Amino acid sequence: MPDRTDPLAYLEEEIGALDRDGLLVRPRSLEGPTGARAVFDGREVINLASNNYLGLANHPRLNEAAARAATDLGAGSGAVRTIAGTMAIHVELERRFAAFKHAEAALMFPSGFAANAGTVAAVLGPEDVIVSDRLNHASIIDGGRLSKARIAVFDHADAADADRKLAETADARRQLLITDGVFSMDGDIAPLPDLVEVAERHGAIMMVDDAHASGVLGAGGAGSVDHFGLHGRVDIQVGTLSKAIGVLGGFIAGRAHLVEWLRQRGRPYLFSTSAPPAVAAACMAALDVLADEPERLARLWSNTERFKAGLTSLGFDTGSSATPITPVITGDAVATQRFARELFDAGVFAPAIVFPTVARDSARIRTIVIADHDDADLDEALAAFGTVGASLGLVG
Ligand SMILES: *Cc1c(COP(=O)(O)O)cnc(C)c1O
Repeated sequence: MPDRTDPLAYLEEEIGALDRDGLLVRPRSLEGPTGARAVFDGREVINLASNNYLGLANHPRLNEAAARAATDLGAGSGAVRTIAGTMAIHVELERRFAAFKHAEAALMFPSGFAANAGTVAAVLGPEDVIVSDRLNHASIIDGGRLSKARIAVFDHADAADADRKLAETADARRQLLITDGVFSMDGDIAPLPDLVEVAERHGAIMMVDDAHASGVLGAGGAGSVDHFGLHGRVDIQVGTLSKAIGVLGGFIAGRAHLVEWLRQRGRPYLFSTSAPPAVAAACMAALDVLADEPERLARLWSNTERFKAGLTSLGFDTGSSATPITPVITGDAVATQRFARELFDAGVFAPAIVFPTVARDSARIRTIVIADHDDADLDEALAAFGTVGASLGLVG
């Protein structure tokens, strides 16, 4: 074989540069199931790093439903939805999810990422404009790019700025106002009532990405639309099955004609193989558990209050969080990485979040409590935050 220069050699240099800047991501490896405590890299730690809000990812009813579906219906679906991969269990789950969201219809996507990107790209075109919160999720940004619509970014959680951006782009054929329901790095809740009012005033389509709000906010975890009593006023609701629901997949809920259009033009729906039956069965079991065990949601919120109050009284800056996501804002990336490493050594797993995920001067440790944490877990984690934070001079 002739000698050939590797045309991808430049990637080694790029990776080396990331490493030098402290920006190379090296994920820890989870051994065994996720949970309130879990084994990462061979060590059992208090797990403040998952999106498993309600503890459903390893719930016996979900595990059993998945196992039964795999035995009865197989490991895979065999095709994309539009050819031969629409199983009765997918249709049933969509019906259940529409009811959960108080919507006419719902459609399942391979992931929340695909739901956002595929939907924005399917409903808008180059003549349109997307008015998008500065801190919206990457999948919304990518969906905007795929649609080729103009993108106007408004200041974070600032409905008055969204109003201005809609006024400035009123020449567009159609306008879409889009926000995360709960912001994943700050844990704050979008000012949805104000945004809905602004969208209505401009005749814009209103879309909310409830990845971190589904199963967390609202009665029975129905999401931010329910939390604010805005039923019928948000045109497109995005949900994920990967976070509080505990499994994998994405969802769109809305009017029947929206869902029918996405069946025709939602590219990730059309061109990606449908979920294995075990996934759909486990999601359905998750909706059952949500209804049957309301104490999980209550516990999630009492844990949230206890942990947030503890961090605040230790003297940490927790920003504007109002949900189970609580950042501990430290500012400097290198110090934050060290904080995360020492917390792990003290038995607490909470990741450092640095640029480009957040602004350069706002590096933070991100914590997420779940319903399955008990008081001892939270108190032990708070003690570690206090000790490590003091030893690094971050708090007194
Ligand atoms: C996690 C997340 C997604 C993607 O959901 P997946 O199901 O994990 O692909 C979309 N939007 C937001 C705001 C998220 O946090």
